[in-house]
Amino acid sequence: MKWETVIGLEVHAELSTKSKIFCACTTAYGGEPNTHVCPVCSGMPGVLPVLNREVVEYALRLGFALNCQITRYCKFDRKNYFYPDLPKAYQVSQLYAPICRDGFLEIEADGQKKKIRIREIHMEEDAGKLNHGTQGSFMDFNRCGVPLLEIVTLPDFTNASEVNAYLEKLRETLLYLDICDCKMQEGSLRADINLSVRHPGEELGVRTETKNMNSFKAIGRAIEYEIERQIDILEDGGKIIQETRRWDDDKGTSSGMRSKENAQDYRYFPDPDLLPINIDDDWLLCVKKNLPELAFQKRERYTKDFGISSDEAGVLTCHKNISNLFEKLAQKSGQATESAHLISGEIMRLMNNVNMLPEDLSIDAEKLAVLIGFVVNGKINRASFKETAEAVFTNNADPEKYITEKNLLMVSDDKAVIEAVEKVISENQDSVAEYRAGKEKVFGFLMGMVMKKLGKGGNPELAKNILQDKLNGEKK
Ligand code: ADP
Ligand code: MG
Ligand code: ZN
Repeated sequence: MKWETVIGLEVHAELSTKSKIFCACTTAYGGEPNTHVCPVCSGMPGVLPVLNREVVEYALRLGFALNCQITRYCKFDRKNYFYPDLPKAYQVSQLYAPICRDGFLEIEADGQKKKIRIREIHMEEDAGKLNHGTQGSFMDFNRCGVPLLEIVTLPDFTNASEVNAYLEKLRETLLYLDICDCKMQEGSLRADINLSVRHPGEELGVRTETKNMNSFKAIGRAIEYEIERQIDILEDGGKIIQETRRWDDDKGTSSGMRSKENAQDYRYFPDPDLLPINIDDDWLLCVKKNLPELAFQKRERYTKDFGISSDEAGVLTCHKNISNLFEKLAQKSGQATESAHLISGEIMRLMNNVNMLPEDLSIDAEKLAVLIGFVVNGKINRASFKETAEAVFTNNADPEKYITEKNLLMVSDDKAVIEAVEKVISENQDSVAEYRAGKEKVFGFLMGMVMKKLGKGGNPELAKNILQDKLNGEKK
């Protein structure tokens, strides 16, 4: 019988605020163990937390971007559990009144649009890290108290490609909102997969939760693995145990970590040290007003206003750094289409060659604008345009200087072109005869010979016209 997969996601995004959620310690990644700590985040008795207002601000930004209802009077709760990476023995989180609820994110997977419902977004603090060595295990509390947003969906996904599309879009949104750096390897974006299987029409099956994937690829593999594992058990007449599983990417398998706890197990209660937050109209309005344009909005605008293809618009908005460059270049050069082609084509190719990430690209838009001016005004040909773009990319070359030094300016003087054409005709009598006998393909070959004679400054338009005149004129 056919099986159907049901998946819900819990994503944790570490926020890129300067300081932690309840103290002034830095949120910077890494650092010597236990150097980014203070009495508050290391859980000393008697200390009091002070909420970082930025965290609320970031949560509101994401709430708007994901079409959520905002909880105007929201509260923090304590989630109690014992683990060595949690010095207070509770995590400050939100259970009863999360800051955002009932949103959605529209995705496109396998050619179909779909709305994934967001159940809630809540604020919480991160725990520390345990480093296991040969001498024992060591606690590092640097990450304790780094602010997190947890984004919880309803069980709306049916396969790995939908999950992938959702995570890509969520990542893009977090980056455009400038609230999370989304580095999966550093753990600043983490996704837990809740997955069950059932026969179509049946009630939801028992689910497991898989953790510890540190790339999109690992998430896809973990999903496929878990679907197969559950179906195998059920088809053998077994039962799925509700549990948390840990993914091992090297082995390509997962193993049970602990049986799944319920909310009761954590003895949640409102945190008596933290006041409820009252989010008033002014605050909401201010966040809304300062919301940046998101990637999907940019894509729509680029295709509508500039007539750019949706594929190209997709490339241009893959990262804020790229769309910023495009907008700057289009504005400075006054040539949106040329700018789009240059960045999504040549610049992306050059970046790929050296494995450069979009966030690491830094190139002078002013220089590229000058370069575009040269090609659209017919002063250099396409080959020279590419060559100069590469020089700007690799050596930060000055395009004007480069073009002069390398003699790339197009020869637009008829005399030189006529001379070259005549030479090519006299040196290639056989081909000329073939062409005149009706073999039009030979034209391309002759054109190539002329361009070769003219060198880098060859003006293909002019060369083509003169060659055509000479060949056809003398035929008559
Ligand atoms: P918990 O409190 O144990 O974290 P939640 O109710 O918060 O459980 O749900 C966690 C995630 O699991 C949500 O994304 C939800 O959509 C998903 N989920 C719940 N039930 C199922 C199920 N039967 N199959 C797949 N996913 C599920
Ligand atoms: Mg949960
Ligand atoms: Zn601290």
